[in-house]
Amino acid sequence: MKISMSSPDLNEADRQAVINVINTPILSMGQHTADFEKAFCEYTGAKYAISVNSGTAGLHLCVRAAGIGAGDLVITTPFSFVASTNALLFENAIPIFVDIDPRTGNINPELVAEAAKNIEKYLPRKGAEKHGDLKALLPVDVFGQPADMDALNQIAQERGLTVIEDSCEALGATYKGKQAGTLGNYGIFAFYPNKQITTGEGGVIITNNERDANFMRALRNQGRAPGDTWLQHTHLGYNYRIDEMSAALGASQMTRLDEILSKREQVAAWYEARLAEIPGVEIPFIATSTTRMSWFVYVIRFNPKINRDAIAKKLEARGIPVRPYFLPIHLQPYIVEKFGYQAGDFPVTEDLGKRGLAVPFSGVMTEAQVDYVCQIIREETRGQ
Ligand SMILES: *Cc1c(COP(=O)(O)O)cnc(C)c1O
Repeated sequence: MKISMSSPDLNEADRQAVINVINTPILSMGQHTADFEKAFCEYTGAKYAISVNSGTAGLHLCVRAAGIGAGDLVITTPFSFVASTNALLFENAIPIFVDIDPRTGNINPELVAEAAKNIEKYLPRKGAEKHGDLKALLPVDVFGQPADMDALNQIAQERGLTVIEDSCEALGATYKGKQAGTLGNYGIFAFYPNKQITTGEGGVIITNNERDANFMRALRNQGRAPGDTWLQHTHLGYNYRIDEMSAALGASQMTRLDEILSKREQVAAWYEARLAEIPGVEIPFIATSTTRMSWFVYVIRFNPKINRDAIAKKLEARGIPVRPYFLPIHLQPYIVEKFGYQAGDFPVTEDLGKRGLAVPFSGVMTEAQVDYVCQIIREETRGQ
């Protein structure tokens, strides 16, 4: 049985949407980009949506819009895809890592509060000799489960901090009934082919702030402000524009987002029923505040006595692709070089990083495929 790590959920209408665009001369900055953005405003209830060509670009524009610059401090999580931290480094801001909740893998609000109160104690060993003030929080909705945003927003409010919600893994998730991405000042979604919906490459920022929305629209388009001609550039900008083929694909995918999410929910339920019975395997924990999980990846954890990497090798050898999730950001080589982090600095993050394994997951998996994967996991963990 052929099993892939992930797979986009595309239908004939999605393919036709892309072909229709290629048959026109307008391949950038056209109606499809506007339609794609409108779909996000309608789905999330946000006032403004700004599409870009990656989630990383979206994060970067939020950092710029928040006025985060050289030496500024931003509290964020070391248990994430690197882009959430990199967006800060692009502006020479200093990420202040705090550890995570061991159940959800999301940033621990109690530690955020403690760090906000006593930031000097949370500075990295090096690379922060000259630093500015604490400016923002950058939580991540890890694996499609919203961070504890009420607690984080309260801290932000008390201290006048901006909140950038990295919802790149959580389109469609809800927190206490509210849409992921709408919970901070800015929310970012991403559409690489392993995400819930895909545009090939792409991202969307949502916000209710009109001035920031206009600024980010200008920045994504080489810094052209409203009224600028093609060769006038009010701001230092970027080419972060999404193209029309991608936007049309995204708009088509958005029309069946709920169907796409339901299919992923079903696959997760198939996994849960089978994996919950395997000794030594822990299934994902869903917090009560998560009123809807938007399954991005399906990450299991092994009992500490089981050697995750040895099992991963055996699964790969039997044709089951798997991936350790996440390798902690603070231990990535360039971060160690810049800030001097060491193993042991964030023990919960490191523990989950050692025990977590993403198994094949997508909305197009069949029950037979899930069955097959779980059977092999059962066999390879037996006697461990
Ligand atoms: C996917 C993802 C991003 C953005 O990824 P791109 O590949 O740039 O679209 C950002 N943050 C997190 C947590 C992600 O999972």
